[in-house]
Amino acid sequence: MKLVIYLLIPVIVISSALLSYNSLFSTKMNSQPELKKINTLLGESKISVISDEEMSITASMPRISITKEEAPIIPKIVPDIFKASEKPNTPFLISLETKKPVIFLGIDDGLVKNPEALEFFKKHKWPVTLFLNQMYFKENPGYFKTILDSGANLGNHTNTHLNLLKLSYEQQKREICDAQNVYKDSFGITPKFFRPPYGNYNDNTLKAAKSCGITAVIGWKARVDEGKVWYQVGDKLNAGEIILMHFRPQIMDDLKAFEAEINRQKLTVEDLNEWVK
Ligand SMILES: [Zn+2]
Repeated sequence: MKLVIYLLIPVIVISSALLSYNSLFSTKMNSQPELKKINTLLGESKISVISDEEMSITASMPRISITKEEAPIIPKIVPDIFKASEKPNTPFLISLETKKPVIFLGIDDGLVKNPEALEFFKKHKWPVTLFLNQMYFKENPGYFKTILDSGANLGNHTNTHLNLLKLSYEQQKREICDAQNVYKDSFGITPKFFRPPYGNYNDNTLKAAKSCGITAVIGWKARVDEGKVWYQVGDKLNAGEIILMHFRPQIMDDLKAFEAEINRQKLTVEDLNEWVK
């Protein structure tokens, strides 16, 4: 009897151990569908958060906020294009024929690099034309690159800023053509427009400009200097006129005087590149 008991004890121990292992195993097995269920619920809950109705609300909401943040849309003025390249000779322009409220500004040389003026150009993004000369821009081309990046254009203003009336046709051609290469090397831009130093030009200038790939030679109808607008005729700026300014020490006074005048006349600074083709 004792022997039977001794034999039975290990059997009972082993069986109970096996049973408890089985129950453990079955719990593990049962836990799989439970996990699956939770996952499904989570999955469903993710999808069910956004209903069709909510989707349309969510989709429309960013559109409203984007519209609010956008700058007011100013209707673009369609240019009255002056077809300079179709003319037999390169034209000399001081204004463009238009009834649209536009004005063109060319700023010359580049002597003074005023930081306040740089901020003004970055803010206003006027498509002015910079008739720069390398004797002024070479020391700090980055200043003018920033203005060009703010929407300005680059114009040719000769290689060495000489009075062209004292030069032969070949000399004038060299002054203009050589400068084209300098602008290409310094700014990666080949100018379309040329403004002769001091506004001095003759027939040779127009021919030389054409041979250097210039579309039009640009003068001015009025100039801004010493914080004042100086009119050649009358007492106000008119639609289509081309204006002269310089990078001089008082450029901020000049920019403010010009801005006040164009606001008074309700004129917008437009891009010569878009109006003269
Ligand atoms: Zn000049």
